[in-house]
Amino acid sequence: MGNNDPMTAPTHNYPHLLSPLPLGGITLRNRLVMGSMHTGLEDNLTDFADLAAFYAARAHGGVGLIITGGFSPTWEGRLTPHNCTTAAGPMTPDEFITAHQTVTRAVHDGGAYIFLQLLHAGRYAYHPDAVSADNTQSPISPYPAAALSTQQVYELIAAYARGARLALDAGYDGVQVMGSEGYLINQFLAPRTNHRTDEFGGSAANRRRLPVEIVRAIRAEVGPDVPIDYRISILELVEGGQTWEEIEALAHELVDAGVNVFTAGIGWHEARIPTIVTSVPRAAFAWAAARLQAVVPIPVVVSNRINDLEVAESLLDGRWVETVGCPEGVQATPGQPAGQLVSMARPWLADASIGVHAMAGTPEKIVTCIGCNQACLDHTFSGKRASCLLNPIAGHERELPITPASARKRIAVVGAGMAGMFFAQTAASRGHEVEVFEAADTPGGQFRLAATIPGKEEFVGALQGAVGRLKALGVPVRCGQAVDPQQLAQEFDEVVVASGVTPRVPGIPGLEEHRLGHTHEGTTVVTYQELLSGAEVGDAVAVIGAGGIGFDVCEFLMEKHRAVSVQEWSAAWGVGPEGLVQPRPEFQGRRVHMLQRKPSKQGKSLGTTTGWVHRAVVAMAGVVQWSGVSYEEITDEGLVISVAPEAVPARPGVEVPQPSEGVVRLTLPVDTVVLCSGQESVRLGAQESESVHIIGGADVAAEVDAKRAIDQAVRLALVM
Ligand code: NAP
Ligand code: SF4
Repeated sequence: MGNNDPMTAPTHNYPHLLSPLPLGGITLRNRLVMGSMHTGLEDNLTDFADLAAFYAARAHGGVGLIITGGFSPTWEGRLTPHNCTTAAGPMTPDEFITAHQTVTRAVHDGGAYIFLQLLHAGRYAYHPDAVSADNTQSPISPYPAAALSTQQVYELIAAYARGARLALDAGYDGVQVMGSEGYLINQFLAPRTNHRTDEFGGSAANRRRLPVEIVRAIRAEVGPDVPIDYRISILELVEGGQTWEEIEALAHELVDAGVNVFTAGIGWHEARIPTIVTSVPRAAFAWAAARLQAVVPIPVVVSNRINDLEVAESLLDGRWVETVGCPEGVQATPGQPAGQLVSMARPWLADASIGVHAMAGTPEKIVTCIGCNQACLDHTFSGKRASCLLNPIAGHERELPITPASARKRIAVVGAGMAGMFFAQTAASRGHEVEVFEAADTPGGQFRLAATIPGKEEFVGALQGAVGRLKALGVPVRCGQAVDPQQLAQEFDEVVVASGVTPRVPGIPGLEEHRLGHTHEGTTVVTYQELLSGAEVGDAVAVIGAGGIGFDVCEFLMEKHRAVSVQEWSAAWGVGPEGLVQPRPEFQGRRVHMLQRKPSKQGKSLGTTTGWVHRAVVAMAGVVQWSGVSYEEITDEGLVISVAPEAVPARPGVEVPQPSEGVVRLTLPVDTVVLCSGQESVRLGAQESESVHIIGGADVAAEVDAKRAIDQAVRLALVM
């Protein structure tokens, strides 16, 4: 008899990833770690059943080790006003233990281990009780922090030990000490934020004292066998951060103090180098983990922008040196492992069963995280429950179980964009007979267009994954078939209209005469859809609209390369062996203007945690940004606008005439005008009824986004 249990079946696909690892007194079943994420379910007793269900799904999905979201060892160290801590606040110690036992039991039932993360926010705290090494305020926090006295630092060390004890009492298998990303411990370590004159400041050795004493205190409290993970900042990416020599010295002292495993931490939150967004190449910081692994005798967990099992395996077997690569000036030897475990955080939101698929040798079935942050980090930062754009069930496991349909129905889906495909996939997996009709030659809709933007290469895989899952479920996708939803309603039990959106064409004088295919000389007007589908574009371009798509289009027009390597990306952003180096971005030689009517700063509607990257790229590329404009006319010479003199950009890139009647009227001499001015729904005459359902952009075009569309699609499919 063969072994059919995917959790224990032998596999040769990922021999390193799937091999067990002893850690202190426990042995992990594999090297797959789910990195720390705050889900928004940690702070209220009423949410713990949901938190347990969330983690249980990942444990049953084959993860080896889970790290919880951060819990502060003191009340002042909580990240937001309402975060739960291991010290005081919303829960008594008994309540904490009882609530967390539901989580730890659920994880153990699934065969995984779980560590509690101890995180003191320091000056990143979003409340007025913030404390730090110094009287200081971070550039990303609204509140200044007060310096801890020497006595308070000793009390803090004892609080970490108490927090670890509480974690063990709640059934956790170990703790992770958060020492990176610019949180309190990092603030003590770096000369940037530590100007103390007591034994916790001054020299590098004194700056290291806090984390070393914390680990010693925890080790003394928990005994020799309980694993301690220390998340170590191995690349600071800020001015005044630690040098590599200091980091290496810290690592050795921490090993001596009792740390069993290091998790790699990259960059402070206030750093202006992206470290996890989708445009960061996969495993872009593996080289930094490898540098640590080469000098410490304990395992290192590699982290940051790892979302693929093949990449993960290559990090452990040393192939990454050739396939992923390093920044200029970094020495790595082919075959040198980047670490001994791999941390993925967001990927476990996108797919709870990564480990099961690794063991079954079915990586193609994994829903791969695209690094968009839209439903995870952006939710966390706006106080909402974390979930996933590609998996709205994440964080809602109890509310949205996938159960077999009570009656098998014939369902037609009109439109093979993400909403249509996710509806079809979910409905088919419940046992419905589903057919998808798509008017275009290929599936994907707006998402396919987004996949053409440089830095959004991950979207291609997400699209292929969605198509592949439909194929595996036997759902036909009939492309090139324009259908009438009302007519389909005569043949099918249910019709789901997911026919998406069409770009809005504003009523600007002269626009229609200059549309793509016109016979005029000079300016041509294209929609973003036409541009991204291959329409020609000139050297001088005006982009009308500065929402998400306006920014994407500017990047499309200005970026020189697609799918850049780690070496190219590091050079462009200024990442080198010692951290920050002079950035060398490369852009096309186009002159691009981006415009909006609102007087506000551009890019305000972009994602909370990703918007700054897009704003930085557009600024670096030299795009001229105009706010508060009126569109007057499109002529053969270009786009005519009027704008208040004070709203003219500092370097407008065109001659600015004298104002008349309080406004400046000028012509942007462009060959191409790209319309990024929003969308309108396409409904194909469908009328919502008991058996006709309109979803996604076809339902609401305003702020059309894949997150809302997929969420709506999956929820509908679960109740049909
Ligand atoms: P959007 O964010 O609503 O922006 C539309 C832009 O068009 C605005 O700048 C608006 O500015 C302008 N506009 C609206 N009506 C106009 C009119 N009649 N004439 C001229 N200009 C007009 O929409 P989008 O850029 O199409 O993006 C759609 C959705 O896609 C977004 O909500 C977002 O969720 C998602 N998305 C996000 C990203 C990202 O975060 N990186 C990227 C792509 C897409 P004024 O009204 O001030 O002129
Ligand atoms: Fe990944 Fe985006 Fe899902 Fe977050 S929302 S887990 S970044 S795919």
